Amino acid sequence: MTTDQPAVEIREIRINPIVPTESVLVSTARGLRPRKEEQPLTVSSESRFERCPFCKGNEVQTPPTLASWPNEQEWQIRMVENLFPVLSDRKISQNLSFGLQHVIDGYGRHEVVIDHENHSIHVDEMSVQHLHALFQMYRDRMQVLYQSDARIKYVLVFKNFGPAAGASIAHTHSQIVAMPVVPENVTNELQHSHAYFQKFNQNIFSHLVDEALTFEATIYDRESGEVRRKINVGQYVIEKSKRFIAIKPFASRFEWEVQIFPLFPQADYLECTDDDLEDFALLLKRTMFRLNKVIGGAQYNYFLHSIPHGEEFKKHLDSYQWHLEICPRTSIPTGFELGSGLFVSTVSPEDAARQLRGIEID
Ligand SMILES: [Zn+2]
Ligand SMILES: [Zn+2]
Repeated sequence: MTTDQPAVEIREIRINPIVPTESVLVSTARGLRPRKEEQPLTVSSESRFERCPFCKGNEVQTPPTLASWPNEQEWQIRMVENLFPVLSDRKISQNLSFGLQHVIDGYGRHEVVIDHENHSIHVDEMSVQHLHALFQMYRDRMQVLYQSDARIKYVLVFKNFGPAAGASIAHTHSQIVAMPVVPENVTNELQHSHAYFQKFNQNIFSHLVDEALTFEATIYDRESGEVRRKINVGQYVIEKSKRFIAIKPFASRFEWEVQIFPLFPQADYLECTDDDLEDFALLLKRTMFRLNKVIGGAQYNYFLHSIPHGEEFKKHLDSYQWHLEICPRTSIPTGFELGSGLFVSTVSPEDAARQLRGIEID
């Protein structure tokens, strides 16, 4: 009998010696997770499935409850440990360096948030009160994980919805991974926003929001004096509330990508008050409703980017701003995109924003 399972379990972060920020997490235990062929999002309105480990009544099929809302018996939201963690506090490898091989122990935590007791519910169908509780739960758990161990540099909260977005279990859920390294894209955001701050003494995220709200310009041709391009930056705004704004980025990697920013500078998601998150919940619900209507059953990833914890990141407090990135998956990256890192968008962000704004919400 042949087997492609490795003899020894590995859980470590290997640093790319050429581009150190581009590292890879080797986590072989995850290979145990059954892999499914990609399927279209099955439209189902059933709220409970007998064989789903995340449905009510099947709690024994998951690890014990870490947190729940409103309470453990009548839970609407339930948090448990991941059965197949990509990172864990169970020690199996250690930091080592050999020549160009630099490895960081895959220390961390990997938890699952069962977002709703209803198996098939979409985010825009959840009540504002429910979404409020969900985003409070993310915040409170991030706090606990950061405080649990100084080796934790970053806590990533994300959601995969639909098989095209990598969700292996159909029941709506999100995940929390506490990790010993800062993700590459957060590192890039920190570095560039810090450089911008040093040069212009301004927070680039605030600048972006200000532009989105006010900026309009006409560019004339130098020679002929004719209008070359009219820019209305406000055209990228999808939704705005008292404290938040949802923007279609001018340079989006994904056709229907939308990002949500606080209107007032706030680097750390943990600083959000309950009131902030109530306002955020309504804005998210409205934004997801628009996406669902335009794409027709959006499969997507969303993830929170916030300032990492640790002394070395304090210098970014004035230049960084937390945000939520929502990336609907309507196409699969091609060889060109993987090889060049240059994403191709077949819908112009201006047109995408116009369509999203055009949806009627009662
Ligand atoms: Zn279920
Ligand atoms: Zn980001």
